[in-house]
Amino acid sequence: MRHHDCLIDGLEQPAADGRTIEMLSPSDGRTIATVARGGAAEVDAAVRAARQALETGPYGRLAAVERGRILSRMAAVVTARHAELAELEAEDCGKPMAQAKTDITCLARYLEFYGGAADKVHGLQIPFLGDWLVTGLREPHGVTAHIIPWNYPAQIFGRSVGAALAMGNACVLKPAEDAGLTCLEVARLALECGLPPGALNVVTGYGEEAGAALSKHDDIDFISFTGSPEIGTAIQTAAAQRTIGCTLELGGKSAQLVFADADLEKALPVIVNAIIQNGGQTCSAGSRVLIEASVFEQVATRLAERFSALRVGTHAMDLDLGPLINRQQEERVRRFVGRAADLPLLAEGRLAPDLPAGGHYAVPRLYGPVPAGHALAQEEVFGPVLVAMPFQDEAEAVRLANGTAFGLVAGLWTRDGGRQMRVARRLRAGQVYVNGYGAGGGIELPFGGVKRSGHGREKGFEALYEFSQLKTIAFNHG
Ligand code: ADP
Repeated sequence: MRHHDCLIDGLEQPAADGRTIEMLSPSDGRTIATVARGGAAEVDAAVRAARQALETGPYGRLAAVERGRILSRMAAVVTARHAELAELEAEDCGKPMAQAKTDITCLARYLEFYGGAADKVHGLQIPFLGDWLVTGLREPHGVTAHIIPWNYPAQIFGRSVGAALAMGNACVLKPAEDAGLTCLEVARLALECGLPPGALNVVTGYGEEAGAALSKHDDIDFISFTGSPEIGTAIQTAAAQRTIGCTLELGGKSAQLVFADADLEKALPVIVNAIIQNGGQTCSAGSRVLIEASVFEQVATRLAERFSALRVGTHAMDLDLGPLINRQQEERVRRFVGRAADLPLLAEGRLAPDLPAGGHYAVPRLYGPVPAGHALAQEEVFGPVLVAMPFQDEAEAVRLANGTAFGLVAGLWTRDGGRQMRVARRLRAGQVYVNGYGAGGGIELPFGGVKRSGHGREKGFEALYEFSQLKTIAFNHG
């Protein structure tokens, strides 16, 4: 049985009290590894190591170009070990292999992107009066805390830690208790790639122990959180208590709008993939499809055909969907399906035969027409459930799309150029795709929410600004 300790100051360290957490396979419930059950003591050691790395260690003195080179080397090593890391990610998260391979490709791409960007963040020069020269320096926050979920550990490691290191922060990462083995592996690889000890520390543990201790630690300077809206509120409260900043990437109930003139051949596979990817356990899942009334029957029928053909199996079977992550997720999805008993079920996929008893499987389901106020049209299921809703005109489409508490991503399908621009501008979401959805992992594209979906932007160059702050220095030269 594999065991992984915390990684603190470049060293593997067990929890002080020796406790561990079993990491279970979502596919069959087997224990695939144990990790240290870190808590307040390990978090404190990790934060101290990060602070020391910045203030007295070699890390704090590294030039931006050197940090970039380390990230670029990490990208190369991740690429060289792609197959092995993809297998680990698939087993740990229960992802179909094809999805896990994509995730590792995205991880390498984040490291490549931020490796290349590290020495390209320029500051400002501001014209000011006559005898002043004013410059704005982009400085790292200092010690950044990264609390991440189990749905895309490798990708979220890449986008969060990659950007923070590129800007010169020292990081403490708390992966989720349900999956995060790739994070530990890649953090170890980072040391081999020349990242000085203490620059990146990983504390494994439960959210209410290690996560809460990290978010409340009095020597962190910034928190990057991806997870549920409820815990997001707790994180922001902890940040507010110490007056530090945070980015929150929370849930969504993202809509895809299909107008009557849409290219359906192109749209349908993308719409289906946007909800079944990772079993619907994706913050940006396209979980509502809004269809112009004149083509509702036609589009719903064609979506239903595709849903009926979907298959669910273990990660190794590599079918359309893998299992859900754990029992709580399985129960959550089952509860939503129970609440959908009054809705027309248009189609459902099928389970592969002879699935292991200990796995957490749910078939994908398509419901419609679903009233706008129904729980399934308003709340995040975080599972493979798509609701279809008709709209009469552009105004109603926008009203329905914006009519939830969330605002993460939206997609719209139409050939009408004017409508593309009008609707894209009126949608309240952090990202809008026109004739597409969530393309290629979106490494370069600023990502984040409005409303209950959170605030702050990750990914792309924008994340480098989130992980830094501007210092204004004004020189009077007389
Ligand atoms: P999910 O519903 O996706 O599991 P959570 O918000 O519960 O989302 O978890 C996301 C991350 O937040 C995980 O790493 C988890 O351990 C951590 N977490 C959970 N509870 C807390 C908490 N009270 N304080 C800090 N972190 C937490």
